Amino acid sequence: MKFLVHTYGCQMNVRDSEAVEALMVAAGHEKAASEEEAELVIVNSCTVRQKAEEKAVGKAGNLIAAKKVVGLAGCAVKRMGEDVFKRLPKLDFAVGPRALGMIPKIVADGRYPRLELGEDGMSEALSAHVGGGFQAFVTILVGCDNRCSYCIVPDVRGHEYSRPAREVVAEVRSLVSNGVKEVCLLGQSVLRYGMRNAAWGDCDAPSPGGYVEPFPRLLEALASIPGLERIRFTSAHPKGCTDELVRAYAEFPQVCRHLHLPVQSGSDRVLAEMGRRYTRAEYLAAVAKLRAFDPEFAVTTDVIVGYPGETEEDFEQTRSLMEEAGFDNSFVFKYSPRPGTRSAAKPDDVPTEEKERRDQVLLADQEVRGQKRNERLVGTVREVLVEGPSKRNASRWSGRDGGNRIVVWDPAGKPPAQGERAWLKIVGARPQILVGEAVERPAGK
Ligand code: SAM
Ligand code: SF4
Repeated sequence: MKFLVHTYGCQMNVRDSEAVEALMVAAGHEKAASEEEAELVIVNSCTVRQKAEEKAVGKAGNLIAAKKVVGLAGCAVKRMGEDVFKRLPKLDFAVGPRALGMIPKIVADGRYPRLELGEDGMSEALSAHVGGGFQAFVTILVGCDNRCSYCIVPDVRGHEYSRPAREVVAEVRSLVSNGVKEVCLLGQSVLRYGMRNAAWGDCDAPSPGGYVEPFPRLLEALASIPGLERIRFTSAHPKGCTDELVRAYAEFPQVCRHLHLPVQSGSDRVLAEMGRRYTRAEYLAAVAKLRAFDPEFAVTTDVIVGYPGETEEDFEQTRSLMEEAGFDNSFVFKYSPRPGTRSAAKPDDVPTEEKERRDQVLLADQEVRGQKRNERLVGTVREVLVEGPSKRNASRWSGRDGGNRIVVWDPAGKPPAQGERAWLKIVGARPQILVGEAVERPAGK
């Protein structure tokens, strides 16, 4: 069949959709060039906020009306369970986030409606890749056990489980042999890798470089793969910012000096209610540790505005934390109560307009901060991996430095290939973008 996958939500979902595509192609199906051409469409859904769920369900509804075979996959399916067929009575199949590997079998059986909420097919989906690009996502940890008060992820993605390190290393080796130069390791709390279940099997002896913590040890093993130029990972928790992690950043040039470290709030009272397991001071200490090691270290974050009971004073605490942390970028979310979470039992008492106002204030602060932080880099030479023509202006080229900062430049008639390295002297700064000029490869690079 000619099929398409539509993706809503986070990088984890982008990775899951890639796996579904790879498994469908392996089963003999063909990726459609357009939605019109597709006979089967799979909508991979998100439920982290109500609006995200509605978008995915709405899309599936439109596709059903267009008489396609339609499957809804991912987090919203797990949240709704059998009720998914009440929302979408003509839906053909629905598959939870740990059962995506079942999709080719469900399509082969062709017995609809069908609902799969278990874990069958999980390992097949974890390791399947489409390939072709120079960047790849690799899931190293599935699920989450943190149970932050507002978050539905543990309910829908299940318990935390770390994949065996040897499996991850073999997968990355195979990706690199197929042209991948940059991997991004994925997990809800990626620095907890190997904490709940052993990732290194029975072997708890220190690694060749003397690493004992499972995640830095994984970085060490991946850094030894020839041809792998960059290693990124997301998302992180301040408790995981250990001395060993900093040592790995320092020892392995492939490990990019950027950490996505969601803070959610700057108020100790709200952090405690959220069950985040750190204080404002502990969070800032983790950021200071990274910046003490490298002042240009890029730190990005997620923030929730309008959590139940969030006062103006709590909000101002968030504003001041963001300034103190000097975030290079931030993603602001308006609180959305999720059924079954602890905070859903509290009144959602910050009015929508006030959530919107707080959102706008933080975005405006970030524009000013991003501009200042980027201006500090004017005059420096950044190494980027080339991504291709810039989205906004196709005559310009775009790439990312190790800090995940976008750098655009004019390739002056000789554009480098995607995935190549380029060296750019920064000549201009905007809140979200650096502007560069191509320079010669520095000696020793
Ligand atoms: N695991 C990551 C962490 O620990 O921070 C984040 C995972 S979650 C998929 C991505 C972001 O969505 C969170 O960092 C949070 O800011 C936001 N989020 C989660 N639940 C939310 C809710 N109920 N309302 C608004 N935003 C929410
Ligand atoms: Fe959700 Fe907290 Fe787990 Fe992140 S760590 S996925 S916010 S429960």
